[in-house]
Amino acid sequence: MKSSILVINCGSSSLKFALIDTTTQQAVLTGLAEKLGLEQGQISFKHAGQKDSQALREANHAAAMHAIIARLRELDLLDSVKAVGHRVVHGGEHFKASAVIDDTVIAEIEKCAKLAPLHNPAHLLGIRTAMQQFPGLTQVAVFDTAFHQSMPQQAYLYAVPMQLYREHGVRRYGFHGTSYRFVTGEAARLLNKPLEETAFVCAHLGNGASAAAIKGGKSVDTTMGLTPLEGLVMGTRSGDIDPGIFGYLASELGLDVNGVTDLLNKKSGLLGLSELSSDCRELEDAALAGQPEAILALDIFSYRLAKHIAALTVALGRLDGVLFTGGIGENSSYLRARVIKQLGFLGLQLDEAANEECIRGKAGRITTADSVPALVINTDEELMIALDTAQLAGLSV
Ligand code: ADP
Repeated sequence: MKSSILVINCGSSSLKFALIDTTTQQAVLTGLAEKLGLEQGQISFKHAGQKDSQALREANHAAAMHAIIARLRELDLLDSVKAVGHRVVHGGEHFKASAVIDDTVIAEIEKCAKLAPLHNPAHLLGIRTAMQQFPGLTQVAVFDTAFHQSMPQQAYLYAVPMQLYREHGVRRYGFHGTSYRFVTGEAARLLNKPLEETAFVCAHLGNGASAAAIKGGKSVDTTMGLTPLEGLVMGTRSGDIDPGIFGYLASELGLDVNGVTDLLNKKSGLLGLSELSSDCRELEDAALAGQPEAILALDIFSYRLAKHIAALTVALGRLDGVLFTGGIGENSSYLRARVIKQLGFLGLQLDEAANEECIRGKAGRITTADSVPALVINTDEELMIALDTAQLAGLSV
């Protein structure tokens, strides 16, 4: 009998899932239910290289889960599911590692919802639905924030009244932890070094983007903060900004706090700068065609990233490698080249040919033999969640 883990990443209007075989560690079935809560929900599946999609009769999370179960049954995979792993964005200070879900864990995830109001309530919906549908199975929560709980106080505290930290949890939490954990493990293997002896700066560059300093496999600093708005330039988020902008735009434009927050989260970043698109690939095409707005937006993105990578080396004290991952990190040779060329003083020397080769799933080293290594690594957050889930459920992998 095959054994697999169902990995669920539940958003407010979407449910992404993957069925991971515990022996091969490959995804056997993946899919995405979208527009949940709207009129026309739909779900798509990918199995054995074939894709298909269907409308959902009721566009809600329970209906999506029913459709997944029906497909698992059709493919004779339902009995292979031995445990369910859930991605949870915010675990606050409570969760320093993944946890088997019980009533106490659910209550803690609920408490953290004020720190991630868009994400945690959606995750709880997914957790409750899965618990109803798979009542006998161990369910595990894997937190984006947990990996960064190893940061020292000097890295995670803001210079604001301590009372805000003590009473309201105002501090830097960091995100993308599941990806960082996977990618640093892979990098250590690729460089043939024990993870405990590595000091990496890792950049996870997707629609949301962050970088982290990871020493001996533990996060010691990262660019995202209380929320995923801080740090790098992102698709539609500003990243670092003078908080004085809130007062200034209130008087200039009459915007309230929500108005400015919305502007910084949804209308800024690559989209705001380029006035063209939030999508890196589209901007790269436009930049290569000579569009000055696209070139400028990508220059600002790469300069900010290079500046943060250099700053993060302070937390490491040395640099064994720079790791690129996420949709942009894994594919944009254009941006990687711009970033590495600004980091020559840290000992990085780009290998242009290798950089051009590392796209669309090809991972590897993109610096010259005598350079501090920069590596492209394909992240696999689903696999990481499945491995944690299998371990906590006592399954062998
Ligand atoms: P998310 O954070 O939503 O998971 P992804 O990790 O999938 O996002 O990354 C999405 C980003 O990756 C988009 O900006 C997209 O343009 C970019 N990207 C994907 N493929 C390429 C490519 N070939 N060249 C440049 N950018 C790419």
